Amino acid sequence: MPGSVGAVRGHDARPLVVGTGIAGLYVALRCRELGLRPTLITKSRLDEANTRYAQGGIAAAIGRDDTPGLHLADTLRAGAGLVNRAAARTLTFEAPARIADLVRYGVPFDTIEGQIALGREAAHSRSRILHAGGDATGLSIEETLKARVLDAGIEVRERTALRGVRPAGRDGVVAQISSDRGRTVEETEPGPVVLATGGAGSLYRQSSNPSVATGEGVAIAFRAGALLTDMEFIQFHPTVFWREGAPRYLITEAVRGEGAVLRNEAGERFMVGQHRDAELAPRDIVARAVDREIHRSGHPCVYLDATGIPRDRFFARFPSVCRFLATYGLDPSRDLIPVTAVAHYMMGGVATDLEGRTNLPGLYACGEVASTGVHGANRLASNSLLEGLVFGERVARHLVHPVAAQLPTPGRLVRVAWPAGAGRGDLAKVFDRVQDLLWEDVGIVRNATNLRPALDEFARLADETEPANPAEAPGPVANAVLTASLIARAALTRTESRGAHYRSDFPERRPMWRIHIGVVRKPPLARRP
Ligand SMILES: Cc1cc2nc3c(=O)[nH]c(=O)nc-3n(C[C@H](O)[C@H](O)[C@H](O)COP(=O)(O)OP(=O)(O)OC[C@H]3O[C@@H](n4cnc5c(N)ncnc54)[C@H](O)[C@@H]3O)c2cc1C
Repeated sequence: MPGSVGAVRGHDARPLVVGTGIAGLYVALRCRELGLRPTLITKSRLDEANTRYAQGGIAAAIGRDDTPGLHLADTLRAGAGLVNRAAARTLTFEAPARIADLVRYGVPFDTIEGQIALGREAAHSRSRILHAGGDATGLSIEETLKARVLDAGIEVRERTALRGVRPAGRDGVVAQISSDRGRTVEETEPGPVVLATGGAGSLYRQSSNPSVATGEGVAIAFRAGALLTDMEFIQFHPTVFWREGAPRYLITEAVRGEGAVLRNEAGERFMVGQHRDAELAPRDIVARAVDREIHRSGHPCVYLDATGIPRDRFFARFPSVCRFLATYGLDPSRDLIPVTAVAHYMMGGVATDLEGRTNLPGLYACGEVASTGVHGANRLASNSLLEGLVFGERVARHLVHPVAAQLPTPGRLVRVAWPAGAGRGDLAKVFDRVQDLLWEDVGIVRNATNLRPALDEFARLADETEPANPAEAPGPVANAVLTASLIARAALTRTESRGAHYRSDFPERRPMWRIHIGVVRKPPLARRP
């Protein structure tokens, strides 16, 4: 197989699409419809991806009182001065057409009297969130696209991981892939490779993401010389179920959109007075308030109070949440729901232009792994599923009809050296340590006192996990250490607080930092003696 992934030559092109969440499935489908012959690989099962767990829905201005312009304005406002306007304009104005694609593929969006039902979420000025199966939007999208991919006869390889990419000039990139847990690595023919590898949430000890979300695409692209941007911006979700030993199950923001409020252990509504929208304030504000409340009280969680929402309405709108809570003996119409804030979404990633191109010819990125600039410093809820579709479409079209586009230049470029190591560490222990370090020192509240030693420790862990032979493809744990270190490096560089990035030693937003931070690899150094 590896030899069969070739360069783009009209309809003979065989792009390699990596990842089977919304972005990868959609790109593969559209490539097929446009006459290409994509190969789709995923390191796990075909349907295991962040996408599957998305509950709230997908945003698009399709309501009668709504316009793409209003959606754009909300997106710009949420992003705290760092949204790339052209990218956000593309996202919001192309959203209705991409929703029409999903309907054409058969995604069963919920309706009211024959019209698509639209929910409201934090920081959206209109009801514009489409949902399916109540709170099973991601699952419905994943299952529908998966079925269409299989119907289309697209070649799919499960449990096949991308291990590395290597620029091959104008022919594209060579991909290194492995289907036997890294024992052997095969190289593809040079050609287009589309990274749709998702985010990095599960690098954090506390996270809403499934275990596949380890930011591998970011590390792989960085090693090959790709530019990364906005790596410091990790979004934390404020309402994830808390109970000792229980999975970190997300309670969608749409529950607050329906009227649920947050209370502390004393029963007080602590969001009132903190922001004019109280519980519907932007995510970063609510997440920090939850974190502060937990630290102040010493109580392990706060509570989501949905008892004011009529029982029938809650059960109809959030059936999966109700089923989950029932397994812990909770009925949201009667009981308070214990919640905490956890790592959720990676705003930055591999820098792309509006066509999904990176700075490496032939390497594309879309979905959560990409940094298009649409989210700025803080993603607007329900814009991420949409991002995968809108920019996935553009990648597919670009592969058939290339158009000129420009990669934005970051205002500050940090060059990071990443040397070879000794490669003899205990991988399980290293991964554990990465999760603790990120959560404790590069989490909701950051400062230089914690970031500096964390960076030193990442360097030490890298020495344990990076292969001594630079020709060897690094494994998933080495990639985890690298991605974590790059998040910390960008977080230390940004000496201000903006959006999801909060520095207790620089608590104010500073005009000089209304720029993007880019991170790129310094030429590889010789191994330390
Ligand atoms: C609990 C939860 C709720 C959410 N709710 C919403 C919501 O309501 N609305 C919204 O817009 N967004 C929501 N999000 C965010 C949204 O789900 C994600 O941003 C989006 O699904 C990302 O899609 P993706 O295709 O880019 O990546 P993913 O869906 O994460 O897919 C990544 C794929 O890449 C594969 N992969 C990774 N590395 C490799 C490798 N090295 N080799 C091969 N394959 C690899 C993975 O196995 C996976 O198949 C939510 C996220 C979570 C976790």
